[in-house]
Amino acid sequence: MKRIAIALSTLFVSASALAVRLPQTVIPAHYAVSIAPDLAAETYRGDETIDVEMKEPVSSITMHAIGLDFRDVQVSGGGKNLRATVSSDAPNEMISLALPEPLPAGAATIRLAFDGRLNRQLRGLYLSKTATRKYAVTQFEATDARRAFPCFDEPAMKATFDIDLLVDKGDTAISNGRIVSDTPEGEGKHRIRFATTPRISTYLVAILVGDFQCIEGGVDGTPIRVCGTPGREQLGAFALSAAESVVHFYNDYYGIKYPFEKLDLIAIPDFEAGAMENAGAVTFRETALLIDPRTASIGQRKGVAGTVAHEIAHMWFGDLVTMKWWDDIWLNEGFATFMTGKPLTAWKPEWNIPLDNAAQTVNSLSYDSQRATRPIRTSAETSEDIGQLFDGIAYGKTAAVLRMVEQWMGEDAFRDGIRAYLRKYSFGNAAAEDFWTTMADASKQPVDAVMKSFVDQPGAPLLHADDACGRGERKLNLAQERMLPLGRSVEQSWVIPICARKTGVRAATQPCVMISGPTSQMPLPGCDSPLFLNRNGRGYYATDYSPAERAALRGRLSELNAAERISLQGNEWLLARNQRRDISDYLTLLAAMPRPADRPIVEAIANSLEFLDRRLVTDATRARWQRRAAELLRGYAPVSWQAPAGEGEEARVTRATVLGALGEIGGYQTLISGARQIADRFLREPASVDATIALPALGIAARYGNAALFDRLRSLYEQSKTPDLKRRYLNALTDFRDPKLVQKAIDYAFSGAVRTQDLPGYLASLLNNPAARADTWTAVKNHWADLTQEIPTALGAITGSLGSFCDPEAKKDFEAFFATHPAGSGTRALRRSLEALDTCVAFRNAQQASFERAIAAK
Ligand SMILES: [Zn+2]
Repeated sequence: MKRIAIALSTLFVSASALAVRLPQTVIPAHYAVSIAPDLAAETYRGDETIDVEMKEPVSSITMHAIGLDFRDVQVSGGGKNLRATVSSDAPNEMISLALPEPLPAGAATIRLAFDGRLNRQLRGLYLSKTATRKYAVTQFEATDARRAFPCFDEPAMKATFDIDLLVDKGDTAISNGRIVSDTPEGEGKHRIRFATTPRISTYLVAILVGDFQCIEGGVDGTPIRVCGTPGREQLGAFALSAAESVVHFYNDYYGIKYPFEKLDLIAIPDFEAGAMENAGAVTFRETALLIDPRTASIGQRKGVAGTVAHEIAHMWFGDLVTMKWWDDIWLNEGFATFMTGKPLTAWKPEWNIPLDNAAQTVNSLSYDSQRATRPIRTSAETSEDIGQLFDGIAYGKTAAVLRMVEQWMGEDAFRDGIRAYLRKYSFGNAAAEDFWTTMADASKQPVDAVMKSFVDQPGAPLLHADDACGRGERKLNLAQERMLPLGRSVEQSWVIPICARKTGVRAATQPCVMISGPTSQMPLPGCDSPLFLNRNGRGYYATDYSPAERAALRGRLSELNAAERISLQGNEWLLARNQRRDISDYLTLLAAMPRPADRPIVEAIANSLEFLDRRLVTDATRARWQRRAAELLRGYAPVSWQAPAGEGEEARVTRATVLGALGEIGGYQTLISGARQIADRFLREPASVDATIALPALGIAARYGNAALFDRLRSLYEQSKTPDLKRRYLNALTDFRDPKLVQKAIDYAFSGAVRTQDLPGYLASLLNNPAARADTWTAVKNHWADLTQEIPTALGAITGSLGSFCDPEAKKDFEAFFATHPAGSGTRALRRSLEALDTCVAFRNAQQASFERAIAAK
């Protein structure tokens, strides 16, 4: 699954931690599931046969199902056919089938006839709508297959599936297998049967009914289609070409051919996550798959290609080999995130993905620098707890740790280990130990010790580096603790491969050195140049350099490579936010950064300046700060809405980033009037303006915008047929600062006009707007009961955004509210936000005076 890019966040132990797992006495082998949706009535009929193996005589069968009405249930085995009595265990989302007499061990068959409703909660078998019609579609991960049909809904209970769907004349259907027959069946219906799947987990089954249209391609003998509602499929050409390139790359990398018969990528009008890796039938929200080449920004193209590459990586990591239980979801999500960059770098080297990876490692370190973080492997039993494991730890941190291990092992040895692991567990399940034992065996390296220390411990290492030189030899002393805000130290140590770089030396001259335990000493030859301890920015640790070493590195920045400069900037920014560096020290580093610079470092610097702008700048210091920030951003890109001749894609994004940051920080009247002109042209004819540059222009125009602009954006949002444009218009509504328009934007969230799938991101964006934050929170409180019904699995987008507040009174209010209103799926994210708020207050108290001195001094 790919979450959409909203504040990801985490941890009260759920009060409902009573969930139980299924008994291992009845094991499914094969399902035949027949579904007949009635789109008009928003219901469906289901008929299902499950072939199972009884491990012992049973008189009651327990399986998952919730919200279904049973017409008839029979179980046959040992020559008997028995009618079962169904009783529901709603808190555990299970049913039990009581038999009038025990059935013997051996093969048995369960037959269930049931009725269900197409829900509006974007999970299970649910209803999706366009302006003209209805669709029945599914989203099962993590634990919602049980809402569509009764099943043994645990990832290790793999089985084969025969799906058939009875659909209206003129409609089609898509599922995991290819269509093997399509026969008329009276009353204007026809029955579509799909090929039997290989052994897959229940959460990977997909059922889609409607009038989908597809464009077709393929690679290496695998047919590939991109599908959407009629007309939209034409926006799938870019995704199709990305998919062909990606499948071909993975076939080679994994050494195992794409494991399913066909690959469909389908855009669905209403979809909560970014995308979902159903075996052979990957589903997407429209903006994550479809692109109008005339109006697509560079970021959007990269976003679609990234989501496609992530989901297709899952066909091996997740679908072919699946984690035994949800506590190891990182084996899915971390790997898919890790793998994404490889095919994209091969396809579009100019995108600089390895630099994005260096920036992503720093972001993960930051996310992980909280007491409220969790270990990569965290136990979870209830649906609510399992759902909250899909966070920045499972995705970003795991990917960062894997990049560190890959650099240390070497790319070929790492790939060989992956191949061995996938071969060994194909169409089966594996746990963390299975992975790192296979990697250690294949490489003859202690991969298990390194992985275990990072997977089972919470948090990230902070290395205090102390460098003593004498007689041409350098003695580097490293002391480990856990990276937390100053004053909250926790003694903890990891097994870490440290790969250092001597500045000024191109190639890796030092072999990586393994450290473990609280302190280590590394003797290194040569004291002639400073030592950067995170070669290529691929280590998952923060480094606390001595003041002398820091100053020396600052003087040799041009001798580091771009990924290392990103890593050093992120490292120093992380330490500053956690009060381990004076903010003036960080600003000195920014001033020393070489210009021009690669796009990701400019993005990171701009983000840090916007953070300072929001946290430390007062009315009294604003003008001085605006001048200082403009100086710090100077030299990376022309401050102009006009493209210079020969501007490449990376340079264009860099310019958009600088313009956006200057607009956010303010003080440039000409910039604002330029933004208004661009935005106006964009709104009149989107294709007439470069899409990448239109993005910051629209944000700035809205920030300083009036009611006429607000109304125009709202009506464009409601009328536009292009998914990405719709998203842009909607996002811009959250950027206004005028109090009356802020209130309009908040009211709009609860007017019913914002699609359910877009509501979490819309509210998150309002909560991140300083001018809208307080009133949005009041509205969220007033609508909390509705929100828990409408977006039950996406509350983390809201609670995760409360960390944008930076005052202790707000924290008291949050705590009081959630003491009586359970945060549900947003529980972990709430805990993170409350801590982020504390850290922000401490940051402001610690750095305000120093910040003001630093910007006055210049
Ligand atoms: Zn995923």
